[in-house]
Amino acid sequence: MSRGRSSCWSCSRAASAWKPSPGRLPARTAPIITIDSNRIEHDEAARLPLYALRSTGSRGRRHPEPPDPLRTVWRRDRDRIVHCGAFRRLEYKTQVFVFHEGDHYRTRLTHTLEVAQVARSVAVVLGLNESFVEALALAHDLGHPPFGHAGEDVLRLCMKESGGFEHNAQALRVVDFLERGYPQFRGLNLSYEIRASLLKHGPGAAGGVGSDIEPAPFPLLEAQVVDVADSIAYNNHDLDDGLRSGLLTPSDLEELGLWRRAQERARALYPTLEGALLTRSTRAQVIKITIDDLITHTSANLERLAPRNPEAARAHGRLVGFSPPMQELVSELQRFLLGHLYRAHAVTTMRQKTMRIVRELFEIYLHDPEQMAPDFREMAGTAGVYRAAADYVAGMTDRFAEQEHERLTGLRLTTQGN
Ligand code: MG
Repeated sequence: MSRGRSSCWSCSRAASAWKPSPGRLPARTAPIITIDSNRIEHDEAARLPLYALRSTGSRGRRHPEPPDPLRTVWRRDRDRIVHCGAFRRLEYKTQVFVFHEGDHYRTRLTHTLEVAQVARSVAVVLGLNESFVEALALAHDLGHPPFGHAGEDVLRLCMKESGGFEHNAQALRVVDFLERGYPQFRGLNLSYEIRASLLKHGPGAAGGVGSDIEPAPFPLLEAQVVDVADSIAYNNHDLDDGLRSGLLTPSDLEELGLWRRAQERARALYPTLEGALLTRSTRAQVIKITIDDLITHTSANLERLAPRNPEAARAHGRLVGFSPPMQELVSELQRFLLGHLYRAHAVTTMRQKTMRIVRELFEIYLHDPEQMAPDFREMAGTAGVYRAAADYVAGMTDRFAEQEHERLTGLRLTTQGN
């Protein structure tokens, strides 16, 4: 094989030595792919059904900005979310198991990515706006404090008389106020529709942000997809993490109708399978069965009601969901996880320790705001020390909360082990 005048990219010396003669220059052609936001918007208009959101229908941003030439409004939102500090910190926030209990368990970040994957897959099949669904899924847990629901329960109590605390409202505080990546405004200046969809239960606990958001009786279809994708993701990964931890065993799961149905499918597909591989294949079938049912039932709803636009669709209420028999099976699984996993001794022991860390940190900052980072010390003077302490603690990772607690109390109240 000749190694002479090669234009092969991997043979850089020969390639750089090669000079095309003027007579052999290829004709100048347009790039194969032209990316521009107009083309994507036209594509949405032509392709999506009437009930789907269209980027051109967005109500825009609080602080007007020129449109991005390359990205639609929700693709731009998605990129701002992925690049913000609160998104990165999800990596060290608990889902069920605290980060140093093992490297294989889900964190809030991997949970978020699984929600985005399920939500996008479902949205594409239903003809909904994939970019919107992706952006919302990636942002949906930005307001979660450290240590999962234990952290939220403590902050809710701490803020009971001072405006309240709720993780959805906190997600709006993060994207509207707490992120400081842009000189021209506070927050990420996301689109109205993403902000309104984050604020599930009204602006009551949002500490003054979101007052422009109009109450709506039901979420947009795209937001409904993210809600159900959230529950599909955590039901399935909590089953997986529960099995991995040994708190659940495959034989425990045989009392569940959904597990038995999934195992039948796995055995039909792979008759010789047994042991851990059978368990993993069964769990994969649980996801498949629930998503298939969700798509079939929701498609039937959309076909029957044929909403003429996104507002008409949301006026019908919750159209994205499981069939009644599947809802029964999913509820049975959720009750099982509550009794066997979330209230398991090892998990509740950890919960007590983590609740103490969050409560004591909050109380220390309340009495000594100087211990907080500069932005939050400053906020204590304007928004009040309660809101500043709640925002500061809510933004912490599990690891930082542990370190701060040790620094301020001298106690090594580690959540490692029992
Ligand atoms: Mg979630």
